[in-house]
Amino acid sequence: MTEERKGMLIVISGPSGTGKGTICERLLADDPSLTFSVSATTRAPRETEIEGVHYFFLTEEKYDRLLAQDAFLEHATVHGHRYGTLKSQVEQLMEQGKNVVLDIDPQGAKEVMRQRPDCVSIFILPPSYAALRVRLHTRNTDDPVEIERRLGNARGEIEQMHLYQYAVVNDDLELAYSQVSSIIAAEKQRTTRYFPVVE
Ligand code: ADP
Ligand code: 5GP
Repeated sequence: MTEERKGMLIVISGPSGTGKGTICERLLADDPSLTFSVSATTRAPRETEIEGVHYFFLTEEKYDRLLAQDAFLEHATVHGHRYGTLKSQVEQLMEQGKNVVLDIDPQGAKEVMRQRPDCVSIFILPPSYAALRVRLHTRNTDDPVEIERRLGNARGEIEQMHLYQYAVVNDDLELAYSQVSSIIAAEKQRTTRYFPVVE
C-alpha cells in the first residue's frame, strides 16, 4: 500500500492561561508529523525561552519592517505586546507536507480561519474563571494587574467559541490532551488530505 498525505494547518487558541502551550508542547513531543510555527513578537524573552525556538524576539523597528513587507499571515497586539505568524514559516513547513501547529490568540485565530478556511481550529476552554485565575497565578509569568486584564479578556474570547470547529475543556489535562490528539488523528484521515493507493 502506498499513500500520500497533505499537511494541515492546526490553530490552537483560547484565553491566556487555559493550557494551550502545555497541550501544544505535548502534542509536538508525541507526534513527529507536527511542527510548531515559531511566531515573531516584540515582548522580551522569559528566562527559559530560546530565540527561534519559542519565538523570534524582535525590536519594534524590525517588527514594523516585517509588517511593511506583508510578512505576516496574521498579527495582533495581545496583552500589550505584538505577535505575528510569519507567512514564510507556515508556507515552508506546509510545502514539506508537515502538519503545522499555531498557538495563537483568538484575534489572530479569527484572521487565520478567514484566510485559510481549510485549517483545523480548536478552542481550548478553562473549566472555570476561578481555575483560570489560579493557573495564571501559578504560572507566575504575569503580575496581578496583568492577570486581571487577561481574565477580563477571557470572557469576550469565550463568547466567540462558536467560530471554531472544535472546543475542548482543559480541566483534566490527560483528557483534554487525548481529545485534542483524537481531533488531529481524525482530521489526518480526511479524504481531502489522505490519499491511500490500493495496488
Ligand atoms: P496558555 O499557553 O494557554 O497561556 P499554559 O499552557 O501556559 O497556558 O498554562 C497555564 C498554566 O496552567 C501553566 O502553569 C500550566 O502548567 C497550567 N495548566 C495547564 N493545564 C492544566 C490543567 N489541566 N490543570 C491544571 N493546571 C494546568
Ligand atoms: P505569551 O506572551 O504568554 O507567550 O503569549 C501570549 C499570547 O499570545 C498567547 O495567547 C499566545 O497564544 C499568543 N500568541 C503567541 N504567538 C502569537 C502569534 O503569532 N499571533 C497571535 N495572534 N497570537 C500569538
